[in-house]
Amino acid sequence: MTPSQIVRSEILKTPAYHVPDAAGLVKLDAMENPYRLPPELANALAYHLARIGINRYPSPSADELKTALRQAFGVSQCFDLLLGNGSDELIQIVAQTVARPCATVLAVEPSFTLYRTISQLSNLRYIGIPLLASSYELDDASFLSAIAEHQPALVFLASPNNPTGNMFPLASVVRIISATPGLVVVDEAYLAYSGEAGLIDKLNSFDNLIIMRTLSKIGLAGLRLGYLIGHPCWIAELNKTRLPYNVNSLTQAAATFLCSHLTVLHRQTSLIIAERHRVACRLSSFSGVVVYPSKANFIFFKVENARTCFEHLAANGVLIKCLHSAHHLLENGLRVTIGTPDENNLFLDCLASFLGQR
Ligand SMILES: *Cc1c(COP(=O)(O)O)cnc(C)c1O
Repeated sequence: MTPSQIVRSEILKTPAYHVPDAAGLVKLDAMENPYRLPPELANALAYHLARIGINRYPSPSADELKTALRQAFGVSQCFDLLLGNGSDELIQIVAQTVARPCATVLAVEPSFTLYRTISQLSNLRYIGIPLLASSYELDDASFLSAIAEHQPALVFLASPNNPTGNMFPLASVVRIISATPGLVVVDEAYLAYSGEAGLIDKLNSFDNLIIMRTLSKIGLAGLRLGYLIGHPCWIAELNKTRLPYNVNSLTQAAATFLCSHLTVLHRQTSLIIAERHRVACRLSSFSGVVVYPSKANFIFFKVENARTCFEHLAANGVLIKCLHSAHHLLENGLRVTIGTPDENNLFLDCLASFLGQR
């Protein structure tokens, strides 16, 4: 007996999620906030965590953390929250919940690759609708006609989008939500870097809208905490797919504690936004580099030979993300996460040396 006789074919043909080894490299590949907590706050957090009884299971409902999140991020009592071990897990929960035979998931491409992977692993039919080739804007007409044709049970839409960095116009997103017969999950992983309010105000108008957020990209990637905001009737169903105790005690306690110290993270966000502007300006000054506008903590750009460029940077100690073979619209595309000013300068100097410019 071998795995190929037993394991589902979707799984056999799916590669495991690959995370490159970043040992010894400046890590600008994964949209992490480069700043740690200030030492005083880290010590206060440690003191707080030391009091948690890890002999006991976590709170299954995590009510204390939900209250803290509501206050910190302005979530009305009209809507419920569902917490996940990162928003990755929430994507899986939503997909599993709607995975009736022949149900369809729609998403734009290129976008976050787990929408496709998790949908397919959940036995859903996944259809990717290409963004416009030159701008990575939504192709409203083709997306709306795909909704009409496929009647999706679920739509995933990341805004700002990963890996392109742009935000989709509110009016287009609203049209998609109105036209979709199933759930629309708007993934606001990068909202903090956009300076915009996002879709939370639209929850009142649409009962098929779910907002997905995460603490990962604002500085707490190691905690693994994502949350959904939605109408109680939907959250109640999704909650049945969630494993008990999916958010561990230390994460619950740390996130609750940090919700009352968000100004520290907000200050880091501002530094990163200012750096994004500086890095984008310098990138735009190079010839042979096309820079795309970003509302996130990374910048998507194109060079003449992305793979060689990626390898030159890695050989010089800077790890970014090469997207060249990820999707045909991403040909010669690279994505750099905004780091500290020193890290960004190292990246820019390495790129300048690759391009033979200064
Ligand atoms: C990084 C990312 C996520 C996953 O975030 P986690 O909460 O760390 O699992 C979800 N959506 C998008 C668009 C992302 O870029």
